[in-house]
Amino acid sequence: MALPRKRRPGFILLFGSRNIISDENTPPVQTTCPRCGQPAQIVGRTYRTWFTIFFLPVFPMSGSRRFSQCSLCHAQFPVPVEDLRRGLANNEQQQNQQAITLYNSLRASPANSITLNQLMLMYASMNEYAQAISAANDFPEALAASEQCMSTLGRVYLANEQRPQAIEWFDKALARNSSLGEAHYYKAVAHLTNTPPDYGAAVASARQARNANFANADALLREAETKDRGE
Ligand SMILES: [Zn+2]
Repeated sequence: MALPRKRRPGFILLFGSRNIISDENTPPVQTTCPRCGQPAQIVGRTYRTWFTIFFLPVFPMSGSRRFSQCSLCHAQFPVPVEDLRRGLANNEQQQNQQAITLYNSLRASPANSITLNQLMLMYASMNEYAQAISAANDFPEALAASEQCMSTLGRVYLANEQRPQAIEWFDKALARNSSLGEAHYYKAVAHLTNTPPDYGAAVASARQARNANFANADALLREAETKDRGE
């Protein structure tokens, strides 16, 4: 009978590498995260690759690399947080300048619906919903002449979570043009998200949006129908 072979005491060094992430002292940027779409803090962070023995970092193998990270969804963006801040500030300044130009052009021709629509869309893209609404109030002639402006105003109210006002403006837009798919679509969204929601009305509006071939109306209709059935 063979004797069980004696195992020699072994000693294995486990080498490896590991990325170590650390927070930066730079203040975070408050903005809408491009990944999750939520208003979030984007924080500055750095990472460095370390040489490890037994999983313990011994010395750094790379310089620090900086990135920024959404504090809600943790998406990482390969830019230092100050670059992000500077980019946002520049963008905001440009948009403000453009808004002033549009405003001045509307003062010169207050019935120009196309300009009013652009101005509202610009404010909405900056999340300045109150500004978009006051622009609509300032140029009632341009608003009254265009179902597109009415529908845009409805979308602004919807984004600002003022759903009854949103529905009112979608209805005004549809009174001028009953085949405006956008107004049907967002009216369905308003009914779906209203408190309390009105699933039956959402189904009817989503169906009209689909008949007008509005993008994604099919998916919205299916969702509204599912909710209407109480599933
Ligand atoms: Zn995010």
